[in-house]
Amino acid sequence: MGTSNIADKVVVITGASSGIGESTAKLLARHGAKVVLGARRKDRLDAAVKEISAAGGTAVSVAVDVTKRGEVEGLIRAAVDGFGRVDVIVNDAGIMSIAPIDALKVEEWDRMIDVNLKGLLYGVAAVLPSMQKQKQGHIINLASVFGIKVFAPGGVVYCATKSAVRALTEGLRIELHSQNIRCTMISPGAVATELPEGSSEEATRKNLREFYKAIMAIPANSIASAIAYAIEQPADVEIDEIVIRPTAQDF
Ligand code: NDP
Repeated sequence: MGTSNIADKVVVITGASSGIGESTAKLLARHGAKVVLGARRKDRLDAAVKEISAAGGTAVSVAVDVTKRGEVEGLIRAAVDGFGRVDVIVNDAGIMSIAPIDALKVEEWDRMIDVNLKGLLYGVAAVLPSMQKQKQGHIINLASVFGIKVFAPGGVVYCATKSAVRALTEGLRIELHSQNIRCTMISPGAVATELPEGSSEEATRKNLREFYKAIMAIPANSIASAIAYAIEQPADVEIDEIVIRPTAQDF
């Protein structure tokens, strides 16, 4: 196990059943963190935990739907009960449903707001009392390059949720820095994960697959490395923001 500033930290990760979250859990565990994996697909979480444990790491999983505040509280409780504290939360769970606004996919709008925004806030609400008590903590939020630039037609509501994540993370930083709680936002471009499969129209999913291929979407591990970089800094160094995209992606 590693001896970096990541070793022995207790890190809770939402959205850890695939993509960036899963990759981050595995990378941090390799550096000696105790990782607590949350998402809805328990079988996938358990497979990741098994792999981490087999490699000598420490991990547990909790089935959690981040749109349910009580379940997010349960996730944090599991970390505190199991490991005594929470040093870092990675609010990674997110969904992306692409459609022009006049398709009026209102249920998908609701869902994106519930997961990407409210789910992230439930994570903050659940973990903050522990971090305040410890007088130390680190909140890492997954935003997106689509929180910086609006992708339209198609991505309006997704972009709105991610630009809200930007505002929230910056606001949290301003409010929490005096309590020794670091806040970091990670804004990826195209990353090769299951995310583009979240649209209801097959034609849209196909277009996104082709787009991701054309701009050479980067592996989830490249984002995990950025998250590890933010965590491994000395306690008095805060990485506020990292934007990472494929070299071939122009926006
Ligand atoms: P994936 O689809 O691979 O992972 C999304 C994760 O979120 C899954 O583990 C999923 O688990 C979880 N999730 C979705 N809904 C819920 C829910 N209601 N409760 C709990 N967990 C949930 O995509 P990525 O790894 O790419 O996405 C991770 C984050 O990165 C997201 O916030 C995304 O917006 C952001 N991002 C991704 C980019 C990309 O190109 N891939 C670019 C920019 C940002 P489960 O279904 O098991 O619950």
